[in-house]
Amino acid sequence: MRYLSTRDSSIRLTSAQAIACGLSRDGGLFVPESVPALPAGAIEKLTGMTYQQRAVYVMGLFLEDFSEAELTELCAKAYGTNFDTPAVAPVAALDENTSFLELWHGPTCAFKDMALQILPHLLTASLIKNGEEKKVCILVATSGDTGKAALEGFRDVDRTKIMVFYPRDGVSDIQKLQMTSQDGENVGVCSVLGNFDDAQSGVKKIFSDAAFRQRLAEKGWFLSSANSINWGRLLPQVVYYISAYCDLVSAGRIQNGDAVNFCVPTGNFGDILAGYYAKRMGLPVKKLICASNCNDVLTEFFSTGVYNKNRSFHTTISPSMDILISSNLERLLFEISGGDDRLVAGYMRQLAETGKYEVAPQLKAQMDALFSAGSCTDSETKEEIRRVFDEHGYLMDTHTAVGCHVLRAYRAETGDDTQAVVVSTASPYKFCDSVLDALGDSGGAQGLELIDRLQTVSGKPAPAPLVALKNKRVRFTDFTEKDAMLSVVEEFLR
Ligand SMILES: *Cc1c(COP(=O)(O)O)cnc(C)c1O
Repeated sequence: MRYLSTRDSSIRLTSAQAIACGLSRDGGLFVPESVPALPAGAIEKLTGMTYQQRAVYVMGLFLEDFSEAELTELCAKAYGTNFDTPAVAPVAALDENTSFLELWHGPTCAFKDMALQILPHLLTASLIKNGEEKKVCILVATSGDTGKAALEGFRDVDRTKIMVFYPRDGVSDIQKLQMTSQDGENVGVCSVLGNFDDAQSGVKKIFSDAAFRQRLAEKGWFLSSANSINWGRLLPQVVYYISAYCDLVSAGRIQNGDAVNFCVPTGNFGDILAGYYAKRMGLPVKKLICASNCNDVLTEFFSTGVYNKNRSFHTTISPSMDILISSNLERLLFEISGGDDRLVAGYMRQLAETGKYEVAPQLKAQMDALFSAGSCTDSETKEEIRRVFDEHGYLMDTHTAVGCHVLRAYRAETGDDTQAVVVSTASPYKFCDSVLDALGDSGGAQGLELIDRLQTVSGKPAPAPLVALKNKRVRFTDFTEKDAMLSVVEEFLR
């Protein structure tokens, strides 16, 4: 199976090439030329398997140039004792028809680990397949969680270096400390004086700078990305939708074949897009519910068909979703337009030039059939955390709470009570400050004491990697103007 660019489908690469490149030269994203169907009987078969085995099976359908033995080895490295539960991505029941898919049991306690624990291994294997002799420098723009997860995934991986840019005032104290204290000889971390979109645009600009790439190539380096624009990041996320479905079947909460809804706290549209691909493969998904915080550009897009990023940017208590340009939407547009690369390229040009575009009515109709969308404010997010903790004793983070709130609103509005899974994207301990505030315990503790305080207040144990931050030293304090990111990279690779 070949991979095409969303902006030029005459560009056709193997999966190993697409993973090694990250982003296509024309600025487009790679997509599979067709979406493989889950074979008959797949769900029964997968239900009896471990998470690693499910990952090998599902990813194998897309990665024809990787053998089963190779994928088995990669998945064993990626989803082993680095997760704090053998289930890897367990499903926790909340009430009769609602569950949480907990994607934060990995080393950095956010769902980014699901993809970034495997991407470095996929990438190094791809380089070898491609006969690539150059080393790879990974550039990451992060709204908080990706940066740490990428650093942890790539640290001391052969033939790689990784440089992470984060918005200086857009991440939580714990997220910042997780990154600035990162171990490893091949890592760099720098804050940007701007917001996440500034950091992301800066990284994209570096990628499209042909002269710079040429200079690096002469020195034996090429650039790649660990942002969710890389297919190697998106694909591992398809696995957990299918895995969650199997777990609901095993738990007897649904019968195989029953439809479920997934509600996904969304930023860059990577997580929910993986759900879309799972549905395209034949997983019985009724609606994908796209949940946003008050940066609700996607809610507006799904309701009006107009994507308009000309609006003010808000810093919220769910910072990993503080995004105005959801890069992965481009893949959805390509898919629902039946692979119309010129149409997609046109929309993306309008977005770059005017900050907005409006999709054609036939695309909007497809969006309506597949998705529902909603948003919530910070105070609604906090109320949700408190309500769910008080009523069910379940402690969730601010991002998951946005999903939970939006699901409730969706049900109230539509009466659709289908068995639903809220994708739980981070441990509440990554956002102690806001979670404590939500539980009515604000103001007392500072910095890492917040972790102890939240343990006391909630009675739920904190994940070990966050507790261990106490003994870490800050290694990285550099910052840069958003226009000077390129020279930071140049310096890093000197
Ligand atoms: C990245 C992230 C999101 C948003 O996921 P996208 O794939 O960017 O839509 C939501 N919650 C948390 C905790 C995250 O880290």
